[in-house]
Amino acid sequence: MAEADRYVELGCSCGAEWIEDRLEPDATCPWCGLKLSWNKLETSDRMGIAGPGRIDMSPDHFQQILENCSFVETRSSSRRSRYNSTIWTHLFANPQTIWEVTIALTSFKGDEQLRSITFSLRLSGLPVLCTSLMTAEQLVFLLAAIARSMELAATRGRRWQRASYAGRLSNPYQHDRGASLPPLCAERRLAGGALRPLRESLPLPAGRGAWHLHAAGLACAR
Ligand SMILES: [Zn+2]
Repeated sequence: MAEADRYVELGCSCGAEWIEDRLEPDATCPWCGLKLSWNKLETSDRMGIAGPGRIDMSPDHFQQILENCSFVETRSSSRRSRYNSTIWTHLFANPQTIWEVTIALTSFKGDEQLRSITFSLRLSGLPVLCTSLMTAEQLVFLLAAIARSMELAATRGRRWQRASYAGRLSNPYQHDRGASLPPLCAERRLAGGALRPLRESLPLPAGRGAWHLHAAGLACAR
């Protein structure tokens, strides 16, 4: 089999998209676990081949992006599995919302190639997004969009703080309520954790969004 035909992009009726090695005896969906031999797959209406394909990031490049965004890695591979499995998580919280970004990754053992990336986002425990990613551009786009929503929430948090502080000065009865508000933890976490001001690393027109996940900077700088 020619190397170009060996790796194919697959889609499953559950919504998953991923890469499979045709030298393996069968294809297994990373989301629902549906497993079909290549013969059965040709006539299946639940799983299909989109064409030759590869994820355009090496495992090392992917790891670098997520480490720069302060994701925490948990490896969950078993020796029996044909694939390496890793879960990356990033938590961010302000007084109103908890962001939980989880990226589940599988890669081919002994071959420096990614097999599947599953990106999911929960807001305060509620699932809001779960999708397969196939390119670095998709990954960076999502990370940057989430970073912007974190920034927006942090800005709103600061306005709320200022408003309640002003209220405290003019209305002594609000003093206790104002004093019990949590400190600017969101702002501190942005500054000290995953996010850095984009202006530090990239020249940007004035007035554009100041906060960005590092991944966006990496991708733009490439
Ligand atoms: Zn599936």
